[in-house]
Amino acid sequence: MAHVDKTRLAATSEDDGVMQYFADHKKVYPKAVYGKVRTLKWAILGFCLTVYYALPWLRWDRGVGRPDQALLLDIYDRKFYFFNLEFWPQDIVYLTGLLIMAALGLFLVTSLFGRVWCGFACPQTVWTDLFMWVEHQIEGDRNARMKRDAQPMSFDKFWRKALKHYIWLGVAFWTGGAWIMYFLDAPTIVQRFWEGTAGISVYAFTFLFTATTYLLAGWAREQVCTFMCPWPRFQSAMLDEQSLIVTYQGWRGETRAHLKAKLPEGTQRGDCIDCGGCVTACPTGIDIRDGAQLECIGCGLCIDACDMALSKVQRPTGLIAWDNLEGQAAKARGEKTRLHLLRPRTIIYLTAMSMAFTFMVIALTNRSTIDLSVQQDRAPLFVRLADGTIRDGYMVKVSNKTQADAVFDLSVQGLDGVELALAETHTVQNPVLHLPIGPDQVGGHRILVMAPDHGVGSSKINFILRNTTTGEETSYQGVFLGPAGAPHHGENEHDEHGR
Ligand code: SF4
Ligand code: SF4
Repeated sequence: MAHVDKTRLAATSEDDGVMQYFADHKKVYPKAVYGKVRTLKWAILGFCLTVYYALPWLRWDRGVGRPDQALLLDIYDRKFYFFNLEFWPQDIVYLTGLLIMAALGLFLVTSLFGRVWCGFACPQTVWTDLFMWVEHQIEGDRNARMKRDAQPMSFDKFWRKALKHYIWLGVAFWTGGAWIMYFLDAPTIVQRFWEGTAGISVYAFTFLFTATTYLLAGWAREQVCTFMCPWPRFQSAMLDEQSLIVTYQGWRGETRAHLKAKLPEGTQRGDCIDCGGCVTACPTGIDIRDGAQLECIGCGLCIDACDMALSKVQRPTGLIAWDNLEGQAAKARGEKTRLHLLRPRTIIYLTAMSMAFTFMVIALTNRSTIDLSVQQDRAPLFVRLADGTIRDGYMVKVSNKTQADAVFDLSVQGLDGVELALAETHTVQNPVLHLPIGPDQVGGHRILVMAPDHGVGSSKINFILRNTTTGEETSYQGVFLGPAGAPHHGENEHDEHGR
């Protein structure tokens, strides 16, 4: 077997002379802790779950015949409703802007406070915390769970495990079901779901999201953060010496030793009593005293664990705390330190975020309520009428994003002697076509544009669309095709019947 550098393969072990490239997963049994961080985490968890489960049930009056769900991603009508705002597929730019702002916000928060998103608000953390709470209520704290897991199956073990998985599946089902409600009217889909008339995709997706929630929060837990999530891999690029991260104050804690342990002569006893509380409380099973690690999600539970342990032995707390590396180094030298929130990178993130926000606000307040798209007929490209006039056909789509019936005037600029007609009626309307479109609808019309043969081949034209009620205008640049040179019958020429 080729030589393997064991120092570089953390997940490698040697067994009976055979090199193993993957270590077995060691189950983590986090111990429950109490304190300020835990209380804050419960508050954030409660807030996030309440918003997630309740939001689809929040109603919002948009008038008769329109969805009354405050937040709805209507995939059938291809519209996104967010309280008073309504987005169409053409408005994807706003979603892009929102995602850019969210990404910049995450960069900013990470450079200021480390992985607080991961530790407090990431859905994986929130649901894992919830699942662990259920487990703790049924199976007890760390020691009880470890002891029971090591024992053979018994009635006590069986009913506790069965009840835990039953509740986990219930929570997972409600989570998966709530996700569906963001895409369909919540009260309607719940009723149809239980009547058995909801449609196969609804049942399939509910099953899928139930299964993923159950597996990720119940079984995979910290492995999602450590092995599956890409964020820890590049979040370190946002951190610097000034970023606040969960830190073990080694300068104060070392030399660590149990209270009753005797240290060699001349060794200074540190504040760490080596109780292991920070390790047993950690949901990813690491030892923060080893320094910053990829597995650390910044949840801060080791802070509470350490404070609990030190309070019990009347030692000063705060041995593990949110601190920055610069501050740590200064404290080790006995110097005072100051927190610098405004640094080049945070200023850059803040500026970029402010610019994206300003752009979004300006774009949203000036958002168009009409949309025009024009597609030219391909066969035939143009038609020469009996009197020599050239006629082109176009498919015109008009979006009326207002909540009222509206008549849109469509005209064409850039061509002399132009006439317009609706293909359905062949009735010439000059100088504009009047197109009535219902509220919140897209109307499609085939129109005919006629002009004298100028013998120039193609000419650029502008379709101008105007809402006669609001006066709002939009335009679309197109092309009017005709024969080039003196009037004659070329390969693209057809008579009135397309022959
Ligand atoms: S080391 Fe501390 S902050 Fe990091 S994951 Fe473990 S408990 Fe949370
Ligand atoms: S909880 Fe605090 S005192 Fe106990 S081992 Fe961890 S750092 Fe040391």
